Amino acid sequence: MRINCPCCGERGPEEFSYLGDASLRRPAPEASEAEWADYVYLRENPSGRFRELWYHSAGCHAWLVVERDLRTHEIFSVEFARDVAMKGGAA
Ligand SMILES: [Zn+2]
Repeated sequence: MRINCPCCGERGPEEFSYLGDASLRRPAPEASEAEWADYVYLRENPSGRFRELWYHSAGCHAWLVVERDLRTHEIFSVEFARDVAMKGGAA
């Protein structure tokens, strides 16, 4: 698998840190304990196309939203996470 960083170009996954589901949103500070527990501990186990956060830790230090197929590792898109957030965070 190769990730095409918008800043650095195509790089191997060893240059990145995987941060998981790009659709998670932090609860409000006053959210219930159950909401916080779900946010911190519960994750889906999807198959197929999925949007994930990756951090280019050995490169430009950019946060990226990578859409890929979790079965084949085919990558469909790579965007800066800040650009996704500016579009309304529809990760
Ligand atoms: Zn980069």
